Amino acid sequence: MSKIRIYQLAKELSIDTSDMLEVLDNMGVAYKSHASTLDEETAAAVLELINEQRGLEAKRQKEQAWQALPHRAPVVAIMGHVDHGKTSLLDYLRKSHIADKEAGGITQHIGAFEVETKGGRVVFIDTPGHEAFTSIRERGAKVADIAVVVIAADDGIMPQTKEAIAHAKAADIPILFAVSKIDLPSANLEKVNNDLMREGLVPEAFGGDVVVAPISSKTGEGIPNLLDTLLLMAEMEDLRADPGADPVGVIVESRLDRQAGVLVTIIVQQGAFSVGDYLVAGESWGKIKAMITADGARVKSTGPSTPVQILGFSGMPAAGEQVEWVPDDQVAKEIAAEGRNERAVQEVEEADKHRIRSMADLLHSMQGSQKKEINLVLRCDAQGSLEAIRGVLARESTDEVEIKILLAAIGAPTEADILLASTAQAAIFAFGVNPSGPVRKAAEHKRVVLRSFRVIYDLIDEIEAMVKGETEPEYREEQIGQAEVRALFKLPKGGVVAGCMVVSGKITRSAKARVLRGKEEIWRGSIEDLKRFKDDVREVAQGYECGIRLAGFDDFKVGDMVEATQLVEVLES
Ligand code: GDP
Repeated sequence: MSKIRIYQLAKELSIDTSDMLEVLDNMGVAYKSHASTLDEETAAAVLELINEQRGLEAKRQKEQAWQALPHRAPVVAIMGHVDHGKTSLLDYLRKSHIADKEAGGITQHIGAFEVETKGGRVVFIDTPGHEAFTSIRERGAKVADIAVVVIAADDGIMPQTKEAIAHAKAADIPILFAVSKIDLPSANLEKVNNDLMREGLVPEAFGGDVVVAPISSKTGEGIPNLLDTLLLMAEMEDLRADPGADPVGVIVESRLDRQAGVLVTIIVQQGAFSVGDYLVAGESWGKIKAMITADGARVKSTGPSTPVQILGFSGMPAAGEQVEWVPDDQVAKEIAAEGRNERAVQEVEEADKHRIRSMADLLHSMQGSQKKEINLVLRCDAQGSLEAIRGVLARESTDEVEIKILLAAIGAPTEADILLASTAQAAIFAFGVNPSGPVRKAAEHKRVVLRSFRVIYDLIDEIEAMVKGETEPEYREEQIGQAEVRALFKLPKGGVVAGCMVVSGKITRSAKARVLRGKEEIWRGSIEDLKRFKDDVREVAQGYECGIRLAGFDDFKVGDMVEATQLVEVLES
């Protein structure tokens, strides 16, 4: 397009010519009539402006549609250090609510319950601790809208408190700190506040934005305030759901009852499920025979932010799986079968440890914005280095990339850190501390980037490279040896051993293996057994014969090449 007449451009963009003229007037472009021509540059500018306006309009309409939806109750998860009072708080909330029950059923533990207050409903997930929270998140579901982190007033912030904070931060949900046990004479609210400040969390009472609610689950003091505060926070979050949309929910719990069969608790997220509906979750499907609330009431239909136990599932869907409505049992079975396939594929991928997550993968876009973020779990040898590194990292964030520290703690990385990093797509940086063998293994298994540093500048270099997005995958596969298959031996108990000659390099027991037929790779995985005659050996060098058994591959042909590979860290100079 070199030159174009105004009416032509208007037609091309499907807008009225008069509107087009108005746009040109606003842009200060001179023209004689709608038949005047625009040069390429002006046409491009018009195009850009109109696209921008269309984007804004679409956004406005979307916002308007959202504003038209009714509010829904917040879903709250309770986390915190062991013995700080999570269970007691849940018990108190459950009991105080059920005192006025009219529903007439027998109250039961279904994995979630709701509390009715004058200001509205609040839904609580009835499994304390961040394991449940993480297992749900690990499947990608966001079920909790707000996290309550319980801190005992006589103990202050403890390691699991920090973990809980990290999990909530990773899930990007607001936190309410419930300072429990304030009825105890040893309660020390001041210490808790100081602990929070030390974590960089400034309570509202000190001019910050960190919400703190002192409570006692023994006397009930502060609990009405806690509920009010949760509702206030929910209002700020502007939680809404479309009750008329296709029903969708999240599995919170599923268990097998000897009498009732499979019992599955879901929290409805949008739309409404009714008795008789068909539904699918992962590889399980069902037809709703009955729905029971935590009060023991049977309900026929249920809408957003309501937890109900469902009778009628054919399998046991896992917590965190999404449950969706389907029109009939045929579709239900089909989708469940797809779910089974997907899981099989996932398991194969999981087993394929060659695919180490690269640093570049860690740089991900923040939802709904151009900005990217890097999530980090920081582990240091001492408070001093931790503060120093935190300070350095704070300066490394740029306009494009934000470094988000999910957890900064003293001591070697733990397996819980790996779980957190895996769900939050975070890297773990260990400074001056050595991850243990099992932790390293867990990191490899979950494909979490775990880096240890001794020198602060190395850490800074790494971060700068990540921010610039310059990092290549940090591991590359290096061939360490090749063995040619010369004979096959069937084992009496099943399986095949390939009798090989190592033709180059060496084959090691711990290496990964690829099987090449001609030029084509036909399998990759790991070595199950490596033998010289009858003995298990750790490695076999070039020029020697050996027996190789692979983990999950038996279809050797004489002439195949078994290639041993090893992951080597790519060190950038
Ligand atoms: P969890 O491990 O976080 O679930 O903690 P629990 O709820 O099991 O509480 C641990 C202990 O603290 C129990 O002995 C509770 O009775 C006690 N506890 C919990 N909350 C309070 C409270 O508000 N006041 C007092 N005095 N004791 C509490």
